[in-house]
Amino acid sequence: ATILYQDQFIDRTQAKVDIEDRGYQFGDGIYEAMMVYSGKIFLLEPHLKRLERSARELSLTLPYSIEHLADNIKKLIELNQLEDGVVYFQITRGAAPRQHFFPEHTPPVITGSVSSKVRDLSKRPKGIKAVLAEDIRWLRCDIKTLNLLGNVLAKQKAHSVSAGEAILHRGETVTEGSSSNVFIAKAGELVTHPADHLILNGITRLFVLDLAKQLDIPVSEREFTLEELLHADEVFITSTSNEVKPVLQIDDQLINAGEPGALSKKLIAAFDAEVERIRTQ
Ligand code: PMP
Repeated sequence: ATILYQDQFIDRTQAKVDIEDRGYQFGDGIYEAMMVYSGKIFLLEPHLKRLERSARELSLTLPYSIEHLADNIKKLIELNQLEDGVVYFQITRGAAPRQHFFPEHTPPVITGSVSSKVRDLSKRPKGIKAVLAEDIRWLRCDIKTLNLLGNVLAKQKAHSVSAGEAILHRGETVTEGSSSNVFIAKAGELVTHPADHLILNGITRLFVLDLAKQLDIPVSEREFTLEELLHADEVFITSTSNEVKPVLQIDDQLINAGEPGALSKKLIAAFDAEVERIRTQ
């Protein structure tokens, strides 16, 4: 497979990571993962905007313009002849003698890769099981950084009991999933945690908020409790790779008798229509 390394396209086996790369040693870097449908990047602009914001929040100076980075990501997809799949893009603060403080004059290290994944709707599960996990992460979850150990531990907790996601909570407040945002529906209204420093403002979250608006579904961006989660009419997660995925069970508690709810199905249908639309654009 061809990967992006800095400003070059090389075979994956030719790529080398310095043992003192700060991404490797400190998780000091940022990333984006984007879906590709029929060779087209879904929601490219908001992903690039978030990448720029993550860089700014970490005082990481991008070595190329965002337009140039976007061109390279598109070229990577072309070179790999990717139709449907994921493109992963990351920038670390680069390689320098190990010191916690930022190095000077060290170029960031850019890598990008793709993986193919056919979007087969007939094989799509109707929902997932989730577990609850205390949110033990830091207080800047709004930045999409490589520091994912809190997320990894939570996902492993889910995986170890064959659940698809861990829903995180700080005390009684539900924040987000280990790699997704969480929505609940109650009495016809959607509720999701506000986009503050405790969650990543998911591009899929934003897209679903937009779809809800178009469909005249009321939404409240406010904190909600574990109690509200477990007694919701519907629960679903959103993320780049999961799109909109109903949560049918949380720990031992069934949600909506273990069936996807009406609002979830409506949003999934609208989402599917948007994906089909960009395929032919
Ligand atoms: N929250 C966290 C912690 C995540 O890792 C992700 C996925 N990267 C999301 C939310 C969803 O974000 P997006 O919709 O942009 O994939």
